[in-house]
Amino acid sequence: MKYNQTQLQEVLKNSSYTDIGALPSQCHGYDWNSLYIRPLGVKEYKLISKAAVLGELNHMTRAIDLCITQSADDLTIGDYYYIMLWLRVHSMTKTPLIMDWECDAKVLQHKETGAIIYNDENFQTPEKLEEYAWVDCGRHNTETVHMSNINIMSLDEEREKVVIPEGFDFPRARHIDGIRASLKDPELQLLMPAVQWIKGDTVVDKLKVLFADDNEKGVEMLDMGNTLEATYQHGFNEVLTLCCNRCRIKAEHIINPSPLTFFP
Ligand SMILES: [Zn+2]
Repeated sequence: MKYNQTQLQEVLKNSSYTDIGALPSQCHGYDWNSLYIRPLGVKEYKLISKAAVLGELNHMTRAIDLCITQSADDLTIGDYYYIMLWLRVHSMTKTPLIMDWECDAKVLQHKETGAIIYNDENFQTPEKLEEYAWVDCGRHNTETVHMSNINIMSLDEEREKVVIPEGFDFPRARHIDGIRASLKDPELQLLMPAVQWIKGDTVVDKLKVLFADDNEKGVEMLDMGNTLEATYQHGFNEVLTLCCNRCRIKAEHIINPSPLTFFP
């Protein structure tokens, strides 16, 4: 716990705090079950600038920590990115997070009149198809990202449906920089999805446990790590489906929050 009850009451006197509601983790892996959050202040933007310029997420984690009532270091990585997105959407609302794309869907255009038939749910092949040509819709779309656009991937709410075996734990925010560093090592790169689930304060600790000379269960541990990764991944779907505002064709867009997205 970051704050006791009295300290929490004191913090929440600041009316910009709000209950974030359900987190992707459904609070599995924490000794708390509610989190309050406020938008970023200027002090936090300094830290996020540092995170973006140096490429070190621990400064981003510091910024997040200042805005939430629980420890940011302990957040599961899935919750961490969800909260990062929340902060991006709710801070500096005059320069929102925007998806910007040129529609490359095909529409039928009459060769002489220029009349257009959109390839939407009402589409019917025209009688004189030879008089038409398929052309790019070409509309330039901009759409503001709201939390309601985001497809959250949550763990099961029921406690007994999420069981992490002894010796393992959710990968946490405090491990992110270590994981990213290990991903650059060819010997570790493909092991990291599993290794991150091994219990340890730091990624170095996790690796020490795995590669200890007296550890006879190394391969079993990797196997379990991969199983946990496949079973308990949570966060949000980075693929957003948005409609072109001209032809209404849906297109997929990748949303990938990082410190860089906090600046225009
Ligand atoms: Zn279009």
